[in-house]
Amino acid sequence: MVESIGQGVFEKDPYSNALTQLASVAEFLDLEPEYYEVLKTTMKELVVHIPLKLARGEVVTFTGYRVQHNNARGPFKGGIRYHKNMDLNDARALSMWMTWKTAIMDVPFGGAKGGITVDPDKLNMDELEQLTRRYVDMLKDDIGPEIDIPAPDVNTNPQIMGWIMNEYSRLRGFNVPAVVTGKPLELGGSEGRLSATGKGVAICTREAVQRFLGKELHDVTVAVQGFGNVGSNTVRFLMDMGAKIAGVSNIYGAAKAKGGLFGVSFDKLNNDLVNPHSISSLVYAEPITNEELLEMDVDVLIPAAMEGQITEYNASKIKAKLIMEAANGPITPSADSILYKGGAKIVPDVLANAGGVLVSYFEWVQNLNRDHWSEIEVNAKLDVKMKNAFKQIFEFAALKNIEMREAAVAIAVDKVVKAMKLAGWH
Ligand code: GLU
Repeated sequence: MVESIGQGVFEKDPYSNALTQLASVAEFLDLEPEYYEVLKTTMKELVVHIPLKLARGEVVTFTGYRVQHNNARGPFKGGIRYHKNMDLNDARALSMWMTWKTAIMDVPFGGAKGGITVDPDKLNMDELEQLTRRYVDMLKDDIGPEIDIPAPDVNTNPQIMGWIMNEYSRLRGFNVPAVVTGKPLELGGSEGRLSATGKGVAICTREAVQRFLGKELHDVTVAVQGFGNVGSNTVRFLMDMGAKIAGVSNIYGAAKAKGGLFGVSFDKLNNDLVNPHSISSLVYAEPITNEELLEMDVDVLIPAAMEGQITEYNASKIKAKLIMEAANGPITPSADSILYKGGAKIVPDVLANAGGVLVSYFEWVQNLNRDHWSEIEVNAKLDVKMKNAFKQIFEFAALKNIEMREAAVAIAVDKVVKAMKLAGWH
């Protein structure tokens, strides 16, 4: 059933990796070919070309995407990524992972993903705003509170979500906060949304450390790759919960704590890493390479950067026995097999980082009800939902003697297929 896609040749392409994962679950579930066919393909793929006049006078045409994978369980849902390497296959893979994620968290959404091929650091604020607004203009009939609800992803933030909401509302002629999640609080954003993904990763790490390592967070050392919104909040909450952070990285480099543990508060570390290149000169750390960070002898490794970080080339050098996928798709299928053979446990992205979309769902519900929940309420719901999702997947994996990724995707596919069948998708 794996066909020609998968292991080896196409390993760098996240979409073929997503298809390989689906193929293996289709086999495990003995999925009917017609439903497998629907899930292998995305439902709708929008590619838009957006001409934009830059401040220096030049007109540049940017390419944007929105890929909608499946909406059997509810409106499409997923982030918008601004990245120079963003392409259609990234959007396809990420949209499929969103379908699994929303099913795992049991929120009534499907899966989508979009973005623009752009290095946002090369644009000024005004250009970024215009580009975002033009992108929304071109997608206006394919997004909406009941159709497809975007959110932040790599290099997008609450400000950009605010522009999306405003542009969509302007086009509709009235205020539509539920068209997008991850907005600033002042525009109807939810308490706790900005840090939700990192918080969810930390909660999941707590559960995984107990179940797989038989330890508590304060007994384990952790290395985190990436210090963007997800990585930094993961470090923040893990530090709060007592874990020993032994290594971190950002886009400029990586650092290993002197003496094995950063003797500083999260705020100090965070402030120090705001200055882009300071990671190589922290007095309490020694600079290491990104490869060395991934290969650190720690209990838990948390890739929180981009796809394809652990591949067949470096998987055998990974020493951590527990890997939490805070990023989407950081481990390729071949690397999965190598890690499993070495006895490592992987908590897959579709579970580990699902706290983000969960709180997005809370935001959508609040917007539709014109309500505002307290941070305590949001965080309590996040904790319970993450804990339950982890437990369900852990127990299913143990029962069937399969890995956590297989278990998570199988549970998700099963739910999506049931919804398709009951709705009469044939
Ligand atoms: N971009 C995030 C993810 O990959 C969040 C998506 C959302 O909140 O809709 O899960």
